[in-house]
Amino acid sequence: QHHRWHTPDNAVFDPGLLTYTDDKLRFMAELRQGIEQQQLALYVQPQMDLKQGTLEAAEVLVRWQHPRLGQLAPDDFLETAEQLGVIYSLTQWVLQQSIQSLAELQAEFPAMKLAVNLSSKDLLQDELVDFIQALLLQHQVRPASLVLELTERALTHEPVQAITMLLRLQQLGVELALDDFGTGFSSLFHLRQLPISHVKIDCSFINDLHKSDTHIAITGAIIDIARNLGLGVVAEGIEEKQVEQKLLTMGCTRGQGFYYSRPFELKGLAPWLKQWQKSSGPAGSPAPE
Ligand code: C2E
Ligand code: MG
Ligand code: MG
Ligand code: MG
Repeated sequence: QHHRWHTPDNAVFDPGLLTYTDDKLRFMAELRQGIEQQQLALYVQPQMDLKQGTLEAAEVLVRWQHPRLGQLAPDDFLETAEQLGVIYSLTQWVLQQSIQSLAELQAEFPAMKLAVNLSSKDLLQDELVDFIQALLLQHQVRPASLVLELTERALTHEPVQAITMLLRLQQLGVELALDDFGTGFSSLFHLRQLPISHVKIDCSFINDLHKSDTHIAITGAIIDIARNLGLGVVAEGIEEKQVEQKLLTMGCTRGQGFYYSRPFELKGLAPWLKQWQKSSGPAGSPAPE
């Protein structure tokens, strides 16, 4: 029997740690230090109204400026953050930065929305709702301008606790989106029971949409069901004009992807919006709403 103890997240420390390689343990120590020394950076990717060419929201995506390995993507270190028990502190930092930025951005763009990704462990933190509410109050940000994204997988570990959390967040007035839709195991049927406002169709179906009959069929089914349930649909991973066109014919009017913009530093969002309005927005159009 391994000795068990509690991490800062109050999760039980992973005894599997004892079998990690030196490299892994070093990486873990670096991550702990990196978080303390603020080596994490927030990037954003615009989410567009495909018909109007205006901004709907921007998704916040974390990066790690690793001193030795260069910039790392979330998939390179979030699992390690979970194993270390620091994922919730990371989420708190992302929320704090995002809500503060929302207040600043809304001074210029009143309809601005930001979407923040949550990890499955965050849904087990009872105080998450109070934490978000306090930040919204402190920065005078309307709850509805914050979107929280969670994956189907986040709901499968502790479904009862997770759904209870979603209902509390919905009561608070923030928007909830189901991320990476189509890749998990939850049935379309469950969609009806979740307090979400939209689903995000996973990149893997969208990247080559115009070339794949299978992906067209799956995407079409998701769009139809979401619409029948009164949910919005966002396509993720639009890389080409043809995919945008295909999505529009299929009735999907919201999306994000490299075709519009790769993720860039959060502080570049206000300049990006101004530039986009000037170059691509319809002449004389108001601020993106
Ligand atoms: P996600 O939430 O599904 O985010 C979309 C991912 O797709 C991002 O990867 C984005 O850079 C990428 N992407 C966007 N457009 C395109 C495209 O046109 N083509 C392709 N091939 N990819 C595209 P990224 O930034 O590496 O993030 C990966 C995942 O890490 C995210 O997936 C999200 O689940 C997670 N993540 C990111 N930031 C956070 C965070 O602050 N907290 C938590 N808990 N998870 C995060
Ligand atoms: Mg997301
Ligand atoms: Mg996704
Ligand atoms: Mg993903």
